Amino acid sequence: MVNKQRLLDLFAEMAEIGSVSGKEHEFRDFITAVFKKRGFTVEEDQAGQAFAGSCGNLLIKKVGTTDLPPLLFAAHMDTVEPGENIKVIIEREVIKSAGNTILGADDKAAIAALVESIDIIRENNLTCPPLEILLTVGEEQGLMGAKKFDYSELKAQIGFTLDAGGKPGTIIIKSPCQNEIEYIAYGKAAHAGINPEDGVNAIKLVSQAIAKMPCGRIDDETTCNFGVISGGKARNIVADYCSVRGEVRSLNRIKLDNLTRSLQDIFIDSVNSGGGQAEVKVTFLYPEISLNPADKVIELAAKAVKKTGLPLILAATGGGSDASIINAHIPCANLAIGMQDVHTSEEYILVNDLVDDVRLILAIIDEYCRSMKEA
Ligand SMILES: [Zn+2]
Repeated sequence: MVNKQRLLDLFAEMAEIGSVSGKEHEFRDFITAVFKKRGFTVEEDQAGQAFAGSCGNLLIKKVGTTDLPPLLFAAHMDTVEPGENIKVIIEREVIKSAGNTILGADDKAAIAALVESIDIIRENNLTCPPLEILLTVGEEQGLMGAKKFDYSELKAQIGFTLDAGGKPGTIIIKSPCQNEIEYIAYGKAAHAGINPEDGVNAIKLVSQAIAKMPCGRIDDETTCNFGVISGGKARNIVADYCSVRGEVRSLNRIKLDNLTRSLQDIFIDSVNSGGGQAEVKVTFLYPEISLNPADKVIELAAKAVKKTGLPLILAATGGGSDASIINAHIPCANLAIGMQDVHTSEEYILVNDLVDDVRLILAIIDEYCRSMKEA
């Protein structure tokens, strides 16, 4: 039923339109036309303005062939870099980029599969509920678009984000919450050769503190990292400033809070005892997702996966996605779409997986109609 050539052509056309985070406008224009041609309404919000982006999120809607509450699908329009001048090639059932760029299957494979599903529904007069499709901007910059979206605009009570790595059939039931943490030590500047004893070296203070702090995998639910360090002005000046940007993630909110507090305390104690001053800035980035196989959103997706004959995998992930934000408003599970080696120039997706994405979306729509009519 899937028109493979049509699907591949649309995917390639979309992937070759650059849409690096903050510069999604050209892709927005393209995809707006694609959906309008299929009878959808397309509304754009102001989300991009919050982070100097070139456009906002799109909320794309169409009434159904049956009178049910709308069903939500979400995906993101932006990509990471290098994402300009992408050339798509298909070799032995593998879709990849020809040059030294990403492919952008993350997340355009999802959008192409959605459009193909809609075409199949129309061609075969399949039953379809009202659809709400949320295409976000700035996802790769920290879920910026999803965070700025006004969720009171949604009528859907259940949704699926199509943006996880792994084989189609994999359903993400757990994903972490995350804190971004900036650790700053203030010391005192002095000449490194003439009077170093008058200075307090902030780089040394940070080093001593970090050496006492846990890092890496903390337990099977929790990780911690120091990612960027900067400080000092010149080789011959005792550094009076040093900062480290890091993060903590956990599937468990209490563990997130406890580890964050402990890191903060160790840093402040250590810097103070070394004669400096410490400052720690904690920013909560997104909440955890903790869904159960018995939750309707998972049950529905699992039934759809089984119907397509794909292997069903309920998985936990260490990363956040738009589902992390959406799930705080309506139950929303993130589904794997088969994209591989994302965020690298080796990114690829198998033709078969892209086709399976379409089959899975159609099965979800069918299962949703069935379950809502039974209810
Ligand atoms: Zn993505």
